[in-house]
Amino acid sequence: LALTECDVAVIGAGTAGLAAERKARACGASTLLIDPEFAGTTCATTGCMPSKLLIAAAGVAHTVAGAPDFGIGAQYAVDGPAVMARVRALRDEFAQGVRDRIAELPEGTTRRAMARFAGPGELELDSGELVRAKAVVIATGSAPALPEPFRALGELALTNRDVFELEDLPESLGVIGAGPIGLELAQAFARLGVRVEVFDKGTGLAGLPEETSAHLKSLLAKELPLHLGVEPAVEARGDHVLVSHGGHKARFARVLVAIGRPPQLDGLGLEAAGVKLDVRGMPRVDRQTLQVGNAPIFLAGDANGVRPLLHEASDEGAVAGHNAANFPELAIARRKLPMAVTFTRPTAAVIGTIPGGEEELITGRADFADQGRARVEGRAGGLLRLHAEPETGRLVGADLCLPGGEHIAHLLAWTIARGTDVGDALRLPFYHPTLEEGIKPALRDLCDQIERVPEWDEDEGNPPGH
Ligand SMILES: Cc1cc2nc3c(=O)[nH]c(=O)nc-3n(C[C@H](O)[C@H](O)[C@H](O)COP(=O)(O)OP(=O)(O)OC[C@H]3O[C@@H](n4cnc5c(N)ncnc54)[C@H](O)[C@@H]3O)c2cc1C
Repeated sequence: LALTECDVAVIGAGTAGLAAERKARACGASTLLIDPEFAGTTCATTGCMPSKLLIAAAGVAHTVAGAPDFGIGAQYAVDGPAVMARVRALRDEFAQGVRDRIAELPEGTTRRAMARFAGPGELELDSGELVRAKAVVIATGSAPALPEPFRALGELALTNRDVFELEDLPESLGVIGAGPIGLELAQAFARLGVRVEVFDKGTGLAGLPEETSAHLKSLLAKELPLHLGVEPAVEARGDHVLVSHGGHKARFARVLVAIGRPPQLDGLGLEAAGVKLDVRGMPRVDRQTLQVGNAPIFLAGDANGVRPLLHEASDEGAVAGHNAANFPELAIARRKLPMAVTFTRPTAAVIGTIPGGEEELITGRADFADQGRARVEGRAGGLLRLHAEPETGRLVGADLCLPGGEHIAHLLAWTIARGTDVGDALRLPFYHPTLEEGIKPALRDLCDQIERVPEWDEDEGNPPGH
């Protein structure tokens, strides 16, 4: 085997791996970035971007379908092949952008191969090369779970890896899994005219706490059937899939399996590196340094299963790259406030600390069924829950399903991250008439609970249209 030596070897050229290589190199390390394809990141090729492209098309269809409510006559037809072609065309541009950046890496940095540990600090590449590295960053991402009986469905079962390759919209789609990926795609396909039903063995939606999940369910159920708390049987019947549970039976052209994306660590030979694995096959990872046990190995992005989100993968890549380059000196990362968004309409989000943990919290609520601007836009409906410490009134978290939810989630995340209390939050400007104004009733609800006395120059009423 040809031998290459480097300071930091990074396995996987996704978001986390690219960030790790960049940071390690910036720290002065010699680096190698190993990936079998360099296809672009999961985000660009089969994740965030193509799913948002499909949602964008669905949003246009939904707006046009609702045009008569505004007194505007509109006739439209969804051109399935054209919808999917636009999804792929823009997706390909995003992925090409990633590949262009990879091509700009210093010569000799990349290796097109699968890597596995041959021993501590030693990687065997399936291209026939041996890499000896002072430290290794594992950034191999996650892969869609496709257990039996779904696997037996062959091409009738889709995951995020093939759903965007469809040439046309399916006539019907059974979606297994009501997590963020399943729900986003289910609603998008439904809005594009596909007959969609969602099945999940759990009772919650998109990782939301119970009350907000129930609220979202009541809104989404107007658009598509949601079967929760069921484990349907699936069976291929010619070119269709029969999905059944209890007395309910439905035929679908395809099923989309979105039941989770476990870390992709199989085949890495972690045992050869002396890494101990728990019963789930996961190594012990320090969430602040991303070090695996005491080894010069770091685990970043979806591969560590901690916060499988894009912005976390890029932050974690930087932390892992920095610590790999500076091993054995490890810096402790300041983790950002947790924030997870599901791009359904209304959009769901969970931010910071929510009730159910050790901390006692108070919760302020705002219902968007009667929110002025949301009604103007024909988007009334939704729930905001804001959580605060009872003693200090400091905001610590939120969960929501709201029109414009991704933007409100950001405002709240930024406010919460700055340690704002409810009184200070109420003294920020709220323009009228906006969706953001809908945050105020939740803040006032919290103020009532902590018996905060309004300051002399505060108006306690609601502006008109509220
Ligand atoms: C449909 C969908 C929608 C999503 N939407 C959002 C969203 O809206 N917002 C959000 O924040 N997140 C979203 N995500 C999650 C987000 O895409 C991931 O968190 C992120 O892409 C993870 O990046 P990563 O670097 O960990 O992994 P990846 O980008 O998957 O990179 C892993 C790389 O490792 C390589 N690899 C694997 N094994 C080996 C090996 N043995 N040797 C060498 N290379 C190897 C792979 O080929 C791959 O290139 C979505 C995900 C999906 C699937």
